[in-house]
Amino acid sequence: MALADSRAKRNSFWSICPNGQKTKDTMIAYTLFSGSTGNSIYIKNGSDEILIDAGKSASAIDKALCSLGSALKSIKAIFLTHEHSDHTGGLEIISKKHHIPIHITAPSYPRVAYQGSFVSQSAISHKIHYEVKVGSLTVRSFCVPHDSIQNVGYIITTDEGESLGIATDIGHVTDEIKESLLGVECAIVESNHDKFLLVAGPYPEFLKHRILADTGHLANEDSAELCLFLAKNGTKSITLAHLSRENNSPELAFLATREALDKNGYGEVCLSVASPCECVKVR
Ligand SMILES: [Zn+2]
Ligand SMILES: [Zn+2]
Repeated sequence: MALADSRAKRNSFWSICPNGQKTKDTMIAYTLFSGSTGNSIYIKNGSDEILIDAGKSASAIDKALCSLGSALKSIKAIFLTHEHSDHTGGLEIISKKHHIPIHITAPSYPRVAYQGSFVSQSAISHKIHYEVKVGSLTVRSFCVPHDSIQNVGYIITTDEGESLGIATDIGHVTDEIKESLLGVECAIVESNHDKFLLVAGPYPEFLKHRILADTGHLANEDSAELCLFLAKNGTKSITLAHLSRENNSPELAFLATREALDKNGYGEVCLSVASPCECVKVR
């Protein structure tokens, strides 16, 4: 789909009040955990609550949800980006206690199901490009290059026309990522490392190569470029996520993208940085 067509389609989701104001926002989203020690994103619209990834223990995720007035027992579905343990670590215990449907692409399914019998009972395999409706939330996947069997990002839209795009564990930015995220109101985008810190740092060479590869993780400068592209196409709020503790800092990640946005006249775009272990409001 051409970028312009894609934008027109996305913009049609936006609902406008008679007085020209957008209707009242109802979607709520938080990063619960972010980074190599575990990832999970919470999204709520009315009584519909979902998680993207569950890479921490069931008790840690439940505790984070409780701090936001929710709980694992309220989650209606979990959507996985890929099979790496920092995205799937809590699934077996969560499945044992709560039987929440777990949506995963077919290539990653065997590795996820292998984690345990409870996960395999809850896991639902899909094509790489799929769409699932959970009450008022529609979740649609898109392909993201990474050194997993398969990785996907997600676009979450509400019946009211709000939209949130999620893309982490990005080896490099593809046209599909740009087309998929085009026109979302709000985005969660990986800003994994500062290239200088990574190259000069203590990681073994094979690991540096893995992270820098086209199937590794996204550097701050590349994230800044993607965020600028999103801002140019209407995104109003961005959260930088999956930061490396060793090869990045929240300040470096924030400044790289903030400067790119400000220099190009997008100073009004809200920018935040996800925390490894604290809930951060995305919208
Ligand atoms: Zn990964
Ligand atoms: Zn990851």
